[in-house]
Amino acid sequence: MIRAMLFVDGRWLDTWGLRRLTQSLPSSERRTPFQIDFDALPEVVAAELGGGVEFVRKMFFSSTPVNLHPGDVRSAKEKIDRNEQRFAELRNRFRYEVSISLADYRGEIRMRKEDRKGPLPIPNPVPMALGAEAMFYAAMPSALDVAVFLVGDEVYRPTFRALRRMGKRVALATIREGRDPRLLADASETLDWKPIFIDNADVLDKVELRPRRALMECLSPLHRGDRSVWVIEGLEEPSNFCCSDCRSVSPPSVEGKSREGELAGTVSRIFRHGYGFILFEGKEYFFHASDLPPNTELFTLKENDRVTFRLESRPGQGGDHKRGRARDVTPVRAETR
Ligand SMILES: [Zn+2]
Repeated sequence: MIRAMLFVDGRWLDTWGLRRLTQSLPSSERRTPFQIDFDALPEVVAAELGGGVEFVRKMFFSSTPVNLHPGDVRSAKEKIDRNEQRFAELRNRFRYEVSISLADYRGEIRMRKEDRKGPLPIPNPVPMALGAEAMFYAAMPSALDVAVFLVGDEVYRPTFRALRRMGKRVALATIREGRDPRLLADASETLDWKPIFIDNADVLDKVELRPRRALMECLSPLHRGDRSVWVIEGLEEPSNFCCSDCRSVSPPSVEGKSREGELAGTVSRIFRHGYGFILFEGKEYFFHASDLPPNTELFTLKENDRVTFRLESRPGQGGDHKRGRARDVTPVRAETR
């Protein structure tokens, strides 16, 4: 048996590689970002390497920000939430070891390129963490025969060289459209196989994560008929699942206390960092914990709770909100109905 380990630079993959890959696909076929099936990936790589290869470890490396610029706090929290879901899926569903490094923005550097003056003066912590881990296993007797990297930055070449000096074989999987061209500058000295390009049609077809469907029970009190609903697997939480039909139903307006311009909606999502979204007429509206009445804590709200609110802006209008903006959000408690 040839013992292989897979080292994935998840920061490059998620912020650059998959985006460039998606952009390179014919737009008619692609409405959502391309997603990798991390279960299939090691098998596909093993076949490309000629068989006899067994993956004894699969590792995903990424980073998370600390010490943000105050202007980035709100947008970053949503991003951090998405990343945490990503890392949890890799751990729990795909059984990867997930290693997260801290990226220190020192409270003064903007995350978005557009907001920054000059290039990002923060060392990317991921190549160091990934390279060190690869060297650790290479130094361990009989732990590793082949190191497979799914990376796109050229900084990994010294790691490839060092591994080969230690008698290990090195394979590279990357994205043709999303890699630094220098990564392959000296491929004959750094790699033991031709690079595997994920965006080659035959590989792409085998590693694409295709949504699987699952039957779930809608728990909404508004639901009509059979409660079993087909959904895309892995996206919904069974303990508070509400089908799209029920989500789009606006609850009846609350009698007796309607202020001018007040609308009724349901809570669609709550983020523990201090904000949430209201679903109204099929669209989401952002609200902040400070939009709640003084005696109401955000964490007492749940998905599908009814609320009244004032509409400040619709999606696409107003300021920096891609979604709409809600103000004066008041929960509709059972006793006030
Ligand atoms: Zn329903």
